[in-house]
Amino acid sequence: MTDRILIRNGIVLTQDPQLGEMPNADVLIEGDTITDIGSDLAAGDARVIDASGDIVIPGFIDTHRHTWETCIRTCAPDFALITYFSAILDKFAPHYRPEDVHSATHWGALECINAGITTLVDWAHIMNTPDHADASIDALSATGIRSVFAYGFPNTSLVDWWFGPDYTGSVLTSDGDEARRLRSQYFSSDGGRITMGLATRGPGFCKPDVVRHDWELAKELGINITVHVGMDRFGYTKGQVTALRDMDLLYPGTTYVHSSHLTDEEWQLVSDSGGNVSLAPQIEIQMGHGWAPAATAEQYGVPVGLSSDVATTAPSDQFTQMRAVFGSERGLAHQAAWDDDLDGLEPSPGLITSRQALSWATIGGAEVAGVADRTGSLTPGKKADVVILDGSAVNIAPIIDPVGAVVCAADVSNVKTVLVDGEILKQDFKLKASLDAPRTAVKDSRDYLLAMFGEPEPGWLSATAST
Ligand SMILES: [Zn+2]
Repeated sequence: MTDRILIRNGIVLTQDPQLGEMPNADVLIEGDTITDIGSDLAAGDARVIDASGDIVIPGFIDTHRHTWETCIRTCAPDFALITYFSAILDKFAPHYRPEDVHSATHWGALECINAGITTLVDWAHIMNTPDHADASIDALSATGIRSVFAYGFPNTSLVDWWFGPDYTGSVLTSDGDEARRLRSQYFSSDGGRITMGLATRGPGFCKPDVVRHDWELAKELGINITVHVGMDRFGYTKGQVTALRDMDLLYPGTTYVHSSHLTDEEWQLVSDSGGNVSLAPQIEIQMGHGWAPAATAEQYGVPVGLSSDVATTAPSDQFTQMRAVFGSERGLAHQAAWDDDLDGLEPSPGLITSRQALSWATIGGAEVAGVADRTGSLTPGKKADVVILDGSAVNIAPIIDPVGAVVCAADVSNVKTVLVDGEILKQDFKLKASLDAPRTAVKDSRDYLLAMFGEPEPGWLSATAST
């Protein structure tokens, strides 16, 4: 038995600027680490995975997903953000039991692995009791995915946690003692497959003393903050970054989720303070947050990661996110060129590229998640988080530009093999994990939560649906 794996003869898109794209290369893995990338590497006693004609990429990074919502998947296809708040966060979330958080997180993490997402930032704002937190962490660890458990807050009441009567938000705060318990119980090392972050609400949704408490808690625990800012026409999401500046709370490593409507001043503040953005382009366009401002972020030198946000309303894979941002950002550039009456014989200026889109889904996401030191690119010395895409598939072959194949053609059905930490979690299109028990659990949670929701939304199957 060997713990060496050689991925042989793939089209290797390393996402490492030093190594670039290699049309015929091998990836050598020893234990949990990539140790070499190159041509005709000696296999020795390594187990060989033939990747001839296939595309080898680093695992995708999902930088913001409310994984607890997986058990109510696609319940809200037509929702705008404001209706999402009143239905999902006020009529589903308060009823969640720890077992529902567990089933949804487990199922969502398996979905990630199946889709080639090897790192998941689990934005867990369903911490209704300590048992809910334990359930999240247990489910993540059961699947073997790399993850950042972003400890959130309860969602037991929309008024308490999001929209206070004076629209300055709640008087409640993230539970510092509970956060300290989790940090010491599960995350005493920052080198594990699961690490910890703090998911919090920020100015506009909280009173200033609550904001200060949460930011100082993150600093005390030595973990990064992730916070939703600048979205939709919500007045209270305007000026959140400047408010943090005024409170001297712009920390490096903070993830500003959505950031759809930051001002130029705020972009500069995010850039100067070492912040980053997580964009969920499919959701943002569909639900009304705004455009996914990836090109603007690049102009300010702010790292960009992509994210799926909510399974209630859109697909949760990174192919969807890449194509959504690729289409929307280019669409805006084309529209601007039209509005400026530019000569149509030249391409519109400022078009983003497929290579940018792939980088945001991989190494950019790793920077946003705070794990670029260990994943996000195929680089010797980094952890072996690797995805092999089927280059022979009917929607992929023939390949001319392999990045074009990934960004403009591939989908989840092409994810052939997935490794995390050198551990094979999916091989030859089949997950190693059994889906039977987790599928039953997630259906049970769905049925329970539908029953608790009350009058069903139009279009829903009955709460006793057998599907
Ligand atoms: Zn979100």
